[in-house]
Formats: sequence, structure tokens, C-alpha cells
Amino acid sequence: MTTGGIMEIKRVGVVGCGTMGSGIVLACARSGYEVVTSEINDELLKKGLATINAFLTKSVEKGKITNEEKEATLARIRGTTSMQDFSGCDLVIEAAIEDIELKKKIFSNLNKVCPESAILASNTSALLLKDIAAHCRRKDRVVITHWINPPHLVPLVEVVRGKDTSAATMELAYNLLKKLEKVPVKIMREIPGFILNRLQAALMRETWSLWQQGIASAEDIDLAMKASLGFRWAAIGPLETADLGGLDIFYKVMGRLFEVISDSHQPPEELRKMIESGKLGLKSGQGFYDYDVSYFEEGEAARVKERDRKHIQLLKLWYS
Ligand code: NAD
Repeated sequence: MTTGGIMEIKRVGVVGCGTMGSGIVLACARSGYEVVTSEINDELLKKGLATINAFLTKSVEKGKITNEEKEATLARIRGTTSMQDFSGCDLVIEAAIEDIELKKKIFSNLNKVCPESAILASNTSALLLKDIAAHCRRKDRVVITHWINPPHLVPLVEVVRGKDTSAATMELAYNLLKKLEKVPVKIMREIPGFILNRLQAALMRETWSLWQQGIASAEDIDLAMKASLGFRWAAIGPLETADLGGLDIFYKVMGRLFEVISDSHQPPEELRKMIESGKLGLKSGQGFYDYDVSYFEEGEAARVKERDRKHIQLLKLWYS
């Protein structure tokens, strides 16, 4: 498969080495790709590269990789503050902040700097490709690859086709993600929220509604989810669940519940008030739960570490 010349992606670029960018760089370099990553200044670049280094160091300590593998991964990563350094890349993934004007500018610059055949991908959560790539000539070679946080651990990546994205570009992006041992899914038409965030929004609406009505505590709502649907959905998806349970049964039960579940078009008022009073969740120490913010190790909250530890256990099951 080729898109105007590229048979295979060899060198990857990642614009932005923040939360998502650093994980994407790690995923690519770990799988043997040469990666160039950029930041807006040396300080942020150093911070992003240090995050990658820290993850690899922990992997060595835990015996998951050897020190040689760590060093070889790091040797494949080159940091820069100049867009010019993307000139040798076959694919560049943009993971800068979610700002349409910034993304437009980055794409426009990449369009000038990168080889004509290169694919330009955005990790946007909610913006449209037609806007991001408004100033790009290569409209058939732009695509969205929507990674999930933490990107080096969560398998799914949504590959989203814009109005002009070619089938060959979709295939190349999809195949690269396969080589990175990710689980790519193709979304053949751009819609807000793609698949994952639409499903999450539907679930979040009902979760927040149950919480607002005081039907159960935050702990019990989370527990009900983790010990049932979370548990089940890691093994089989909702459509498989309906098939296994019987479509006639699911049709009846869901039909009855559709009449009573929340159809709100706004998040709950109580949540807005929490946000206004400074309760922003983990980062402010208070949200649905209270957090001990003094308990930050190496700049990482204990709850984030715990989440990652569980993700790693689930990953083993996923690939078993
Ligand atoms: P972040 O703020 O952690 O990282 C973005 C980085 O981009 C920052 O370090 C910033 O300095 C850098 N940057 C800004 N302009 C740049 C430029 N011109 N050149 C190079 N670097 C530049 O943000 P994030 O959470 O990593 O999000 C990045 C993108 O990924 C956004 O589009 C976001 O919507 C999307 N996304 C985020 C998540 C998530 O959970 N955080 C999940 C999926 C998708």
C-alpha cells in the first residue's frame, strides 16, 4: 500500500511532548521506530523526555525490560524545538494542546516542512480534520489518530477518516498502530467524540444523574461499574453482550429503561457548583472523592500510579 510514495513508515514525528505526546513517543520508540519529538522550549522538552526516561527506568527496575533495551529505546528518540527537524519523517502525529488555531498553524508548518508523501495525523479529542488541515494541500494524507490516556498503556487508538482522507492513508496509519501492538479501530466518518467519548458521555450522563439524585454513594456507583460492566466489557463488548444475553431480552429490558434514564442535555447543576468552588478532582485535592495531595511521588499522584499498575495487569490479560 502506498500514499503518493510511502510504502512503509520508518521515521515518526510527534509534535508536543506533554501527557499524550510523551506516551506516544514511548510507544513508537519501544517498537523500534526512530522518533523526533518537539516542544515549545528546552525546559518542556527536557520535562517530556524525563517522563519517558522515568517510565523506562521503572520498567528496568521491575525486570520488564533490560537496561540495554532501555538505552536502545532512548537512543531512537531525538528531541527538538524546531519544526524543521520533521523534514525526514514519514508520519507526524500532532499532540499539542486542544486549540484549533494552534493545530491549524502546526499542520500548515508541517505541510511545508515534511516530504510531500508524509502523512500528518492529529491526536485531537474533538476538533475536525477539515478545520485542522484547512491550509494543507495534502488533504488525502491527513488523518486523526486518537490515542487514549495513558497512551503507552491503553490499547485502543481510534483512526478517523476525514472527508478527503484516502483509503491508503487509513491503511498506513492502521498498520503502523498494529505494529506498535495497539488496537486500532477505523472510524469511517468524522463525528464529534468518535466512538469512545460518545460511549463515555452516555455512561457519564447516567452516572452523574444517579449521583445527583443520591441513589447511591460515589464509592458504590464506581464499585458497581468496576465489578460488573468494567469487568465484563474488558472481555466482551456491549453488542456481543446483547447477542449472548439474547436480543429479544435486551430489546425489552433496555426499551423499558430508555424511558426512565437521564436524557439531560447538560451536566448536573451540582457538578457546576463543585467546579466553581474549586473542586476539580485529583488536581485540586477534592472532587467526588478527597485526595491527599501531599502524597505526590516523583511528581506523580498515588492514584495515577495505582491506575497505571492496574492497567498493566489488565494489559497482560488483553494480550494473553
Ligand atoms: P498537554 O498540555 O499535556 O501537552 C501538550 C504539549 O504540547 C504541551 O507540553 C505544550 O507545550 C506542547 N505544545 C504546544 N504547542 C506546541 C508547538 N507549537 N510545538 C510543539 N509542542 C507544542 O496536553 P495533552 O493532554 O497531551 O493533549 C494533547 C492532545 O491530545 C490534545 O489535542 C488533546 O485533546 C488530546 N488528547 C488528550 C487526552 C488526555 O487524556 N490528556 C486523551 C486523548 C487525546
